[in-house]
Formats: sequence, C-alpha cells, structure tokens
Amino acid sequence: MYSTASAYQIYKTCVNTSSSSPKSTKKTKLWTVQEVEDPVDVGKGVFAHRTLNPGELIMTATPEFALDQHEGRPITSVAIFEEFLKFDRTNRDRYWDLPPAKSSEHFPDYIVELSTACDEDGKALFPLQNTGSGGRVVAIFHENAFEFEDAKDWTMKGIFIDAARFNHSCTPNACFTYIKRTNKLEIRALTEIPIRTEIFIPYIPLLKKPATRRQLPMDQFGFECRCKACDRHTNFANESAYRRNQLEIMDFERTEPPAHKQRKTCWDIIELMEEEGLLGWEKGAVHEQLAKLYEEQDDNESALEQIRETARIARLCFGPRHAFARKWEEKRRNAELRAGIKGGAAGDGEEMEAD
Ligand SMILES: [Zn+2]
Repeated sequence: MYSTASAYQIYKTCVNTSSSSPKSTKKTKLWTVQEVEDPVDVGKGVFAHRTLNPGELIMTATPEFALDQHEGRPITSVAIFEEFLKFDRTNRDRYWDLPPAKSSEHFPDYIVELSTACDEDGKALFPLQNTGSGGRVVAIFHENAFEFEDAKDWTMKGIFIDAARFNHSCTPNACFTYIKRTNKLEIRALTEIPIRTEIFIPYIPLLKKPATRRQLPMDQFGFECRCKACDRHTNFANESAYRRNQLEIMDFERTEPPAHKQRKTCWDIIELMEEEGLLGWEKGAVHEQLAKLYEEQDDNESALEQIRETARIARLCFGPRHAFARKWEEKRRNAELRAGIKGGAAGDGEEMEAD
C-alpha cells in the first residue's frame, strides 16, 4: 500500500484473473501487479490488464487473517505474529512481498513487545532471533491491513494480501467494500479504467483539506500522498486545495437545517465533487440526502432524479446484488411507477456476477 501519481505503465509480472463468477466458464484477466515507474520508489501497484468498465468487479479478496478491535480492544504484536506463523510458505512469501515497513517509527516497540512476550510459566513466546523479523511482520500488518465491520458488527483489522497491493489516491478510480455475508472485500471500478492504467482506491476519508490528507496517510501508513490532488506543483492541486477546504466545511453544514439551505449546500458539494472527479459513495450520500429533502417537500420530479442518481452510484460502488444497492433500485422502480413511467426496468449496466 503506497501512494503514487503515475498512470501509464508497462506490463511486467503477475497477471491475475477475477475469481468473481463461479457461473462463468471463462475467466478474464482483469488486473496485474507490477512495479510503479516513478522517480520516487513507491514499490508495486495494481494495473488494469484490459479496459475496465464503470462498476465492474475487479477483485474479490478473503482475509488471510483478521483480528478484532471490538470495544477498543488493542491488536497486540503477539496476536499478529502468531497469525503470521500459521501461514504456509506461499502465504509467507506473499505477505513478505508487501511494501516493507521501513518507515514505521513503532518498529522498535514491536520488537520489544515480541521479545518480552512470555507464556504463563514465564517462558519466552518467541526465540529472540525471530523477533526482528516479527517486528517487520507487525509493521507490514499495520501499514497494509483494512479496517472493516464483520457480520457481528465488530470492528476488525484484516490482511487481504492481494487487495493490499492497490495504492491510494485522493481521486481514486476504484473503491472497496467489505461484504459481511461473504466475508469478502470487493474492489470495483468507479469509472472506465483504460488498459495499463494504475488502479487506485482511497485509504482515507476524501473530503478533507490537503494538510489533513497529507497527515493521515503519513500517520497511518507511513507515506506521503503524491496524487494529482496532493502534488503541489500542479494547477489541479492548487484548485483542488480550495475545493477540498470547502468540501470539508460543507460536509458538516449539509445536515444543518433549514432544509432550503441543506439543498443548496448539497448542490454546491456536488458541483465541487464533479470538478474534483470524486465519483464514489461520498457523492452518492449527497444525492441520497437530496432525494430525502425533495421527498419531504413533495417535489416528486426532483426526488425521482435524485433517487435515480443515488441508485446508480450505489450500484456502481457496491454492485447490483448488494442489499443497499437493491434497496435503492426498488426505490427507483417504485418512484418511476408513481410518476407514471413504465417502471420495473433494470438499471443500465447490470452486470452478471455472483459473490
Ligand atoms: Zn492525494
């Protein structure tokens, strides 16, 4: 997991296939892991192996292991290292190939934790010579793990080795969702992604001013984002700084009454997001709010427009089979029926998939 601004790359290694559809007999190559060509060493990234369509499922990943942080329970270095030690040789090699955690300032602490860990009889849990590499295992975990809520609604932190290969961007062209029912992370294209283009997901909340966006990845993942919104040498970044400052403020203001002010704020946010190229659920949530506001006002025509847009973005981000996306599809069909439009038609871009 690292950030980069590079886009077009040359193929090298590790062509992979989507494992999304057991019904499908032919598996299509969708993504490939390769070195990012960048003046600064950012390691590897994931690239489109063919042109990907908006909403297309790029990858599903099951956690190699996950540890719970339920009710603030800390994840200990011992728990992480013990999980790693259960790996077979293949998974150890795959894990070891994740970005090295050189930058972690906590690295010495992890080693101390592991070297002083004892069982009930006071016997060391790990041989001293293993605790150095153990510290690296722990650092890799903290820099690459995804946070999610599992089927019990417990906050978990898990390693999805393939998914950890995606780099971060503040204007991502893909998004990820954890599906509780299947215990899988799904990564979907938010827009058309041309062949050989790097695929980016967001690691941090995107409606933040540049200073916050610079600090968050550094604190959590040990890198500085250099995406087009963060690279201070570009015009886009200068304009983006203004827009994200506004977005951070307006994201709070959009829930403050009165309703007419909320509607105006929502529209201002949408305009800024379109200029920023933000296409994911952060935008869907604003359309969702607008749909509700117009419904409360009995403005059915405007509400329908917003319901359609919310349903489209929900399908794009979460997939057509996701319960939330299906709920909005149903809402769209009902609203169209009420409006006298021949309803019941499936949304455009319906994809064939199983999860
Ligand atoms: Zn950035």
